[in-house]
Amino acid sequence: MIRKLLIANRGEIAARIIRTCRSLGIRTVAVYSDADARADYVLQADEAVHIGAAPAPQSYLNIDAILRAARHTHADAIHPGYGFLSERAHFAQAVIDAGLTWIGPSPEVITLMGDKRRAKLALKAIPLVPGYNGDDQENAIFHAEAEAIGYPVMVKAAAGGGGRGMRIVTSASTLEDALEGARHEALQAFGDSTLLLEKYIERPRHIEVQILGDAAGHVAALGERECSIQRRHQKIIEETPSPALTSIQREAICAAAVSIGQQIGYLNAGTVEFILDQAGNFYFLEMNTRLQVEHPVTEAAFNIDLVEWQIRIAEGAPLPAEGFPSQAQRHAIEARLYAEDPSSGFLPSTGAILRAKLGDTVRIDAGLGDEVSTYYDPMLAKLIASAPTRAEAIRKLDYALSQITLLGIRHNAGFLRRVIAYSDFQSGSFDTGFIERHADLLPDPPPPPHVWIAAAIAKLKLDGAGIFWRNNPYRPIRQTFAINTLEQSVFLTPHTPDQFSISVEDQHFTVRTFPDQPEWLEIDAVRHYLPVANLDDAWWVQTPEAIYALNWVSPLPAGISQSSSQGSLLSPMPGQIVKILVKTGQQVNKGDLLLVIEAMKMEHRITAPYDGQVAALHFEAGQPVQSGVKLLDLMPSE
Ligand code: ADP
Repeated sequence: MIRKLLIANRGEIAARIIRTCRSLGIRTVAVYSDADARADYVLQADEAVHIGAAPAPQSYLNIDAILRAARHTHADAIHPGYGFLSERAHFAQAVIDAGLTWIGPSPEVITLMGDKRRAKLALKAIPLVPGYNGDDQENAIFHAEAEAIGYPVMVKAAAGGGGRGMRIVTSASTLEDALEGARHEALQAFGDSTLLLEKYIERPRHIEVQILGDAAGHVAALGERECSIQRRHQKIIEETPSPALTSIQREAICAAAVSIGQQIGYLNAGTVEFILDQAGNFYFLEMNTRLQVEHPVTEAAFNIDLVEWQIRIAEGAPLPAEGFPSQAQRHAIEARLYAEDPSSGFLPSTGAILRAKLGDTVRIDAGLGDEVSTYYDPMLAKLIASAPTRAEAIRKLDYALSQITLLGIRHNAGFLRRVIAYSDFQSGSFDTGFIERHADLLPDPPPPPHVWIAAAIAKLKLDGAGIFWRNNPYRPIRQTFAINTLEQSVFLTPHTPDQFSISVEDQHFTVRTFPDQPEWLEIDAVRHYLPVANLDDAWWVQTPEAIYALNWVSPLPAGISQSSSQGSLLSPMPGQIVKILVKTGQQVNKGDLLLVIEAMKMEHRITAPYDGQVAALHFEAGQPVQSGVKLLDLMPSE
């Protein structure tokens, strides 16, 4: 029996595992890096051990430090969560060698399934995407194989995960470029540059099956999860049952997943991923030998606790003799709340979390700290709604998303609402290209006057509104803010400290504030919940539709001109320069690749915003860069 379990992970997944352990009466040990010293999950655990500096290799990927923490605290089991070390066979082996219980499959199975090529070669009678899984990694071989498969093809890292090392190639002319890029990314991310080829399936759906296997060799499927709403090949909305499957297809895909589990002797919880083509054929993609981020939809639809089953199986318990229900009893849907900006290519957003209120109308798995750093995945929380029907579950999710207040960083709650409100989503007819095809859903709506008003009032109150209204009773006070290049002045005439006449964009409003309820504003007799927070001159306003970041513009003329014309020559985010493709003095054309920055596990390509000549490079490859700094000078051509 497990009495004390160490969680080799952080954030929402650590908090999630702690919840189940508490219900089972198992003590928990959290581990944390410098960056997570004040994170929620650390406080929720019964014990916590500091394991190192913020960069993951020095903490969450440091096997020695984690095993030392387990020894010090006398933990008898380790749960790896997902990401980090969860699919590293040598970590599983080290845990077992240390005499601890490993919550997961055997190291051999992790190794086999961790290599997409070997996994495919090992499976019998399972439909595979046509492709090349050979050892020979010469470019010439890939050319020949791609011709044989037929373009478009997909280049993938054999060790891949998280969408990294993956490229779609539409013609032979761009294959070598894609191979080179994928190899580089794969080597950086996984220490292994082996690639494979797959036929690129047009407009596919991503459908995966949750399985559980016990020590006696029984394998059961717990329905499928539809994960086709993706950005950058990464899931953001998941649900079960899939609106795409007939019951016959469901039975077939679950049977294939169970067969895979049986063929490899799968123990514990795992996920078999498939791709479904437009004709309704499904093909095995890969297997994840761990719990998935999206496991809560299965839990909600099947009324089951998967972490509890993981622990029980690790303790040697069998799957229930009567089996699990073969079909979901409810519809469940999950949305991932990310610190990112959909309108600028989903760039991760970092910074202090000034205020967070995530709501309580649906299940929310969160693990917030007081800041979002560049060190880890930018996922903040997951919202999981379930109901008897899909339409009702979507309605609950939409409401829950509208309740989110998260100030200080950009996040995607408004975008998620726009996605699930879209007719094709509601009718269930979508595929993995949905977001790419609906660029119109990316930008937040323009700020309504309420947003400018809320910021202006908050600023006035911070400055001491009382002084203003007493000293200048008849002159409106002007507050100017900017959102990117859009500047707006708000004119406030205070009548009392809590009553104002306000004009914005030539519209006039009567506004009341409430000293005890600073987040509420009454605007023309209607009360609005408009939480605001600021850090220096950055003012954040949350509405149910979007998060707005306003910059207060000083009325003083000196030195405040904005450098928006620099465009993409500024570092979009803190990170590291991976590659510089130009030299000082070089002539470049608009759109040419100048340099590549890596941050938060993603590569960002900085391209020339106009024709010109490189006048100066401010960094070298390998150097860290802060957000917003100028990377190079580009003199525009005449
Ligand atoms: P990773 O392990 O990096 O997440 P996967 O192999 O699981 O990569 O694929 C991730 C996503 O990429 C899939 O959900 C799907 O959207 C897309 N994808 C993968 N393989 C193909 C393919 N052969 N054709 C079309 N899309 C694919």
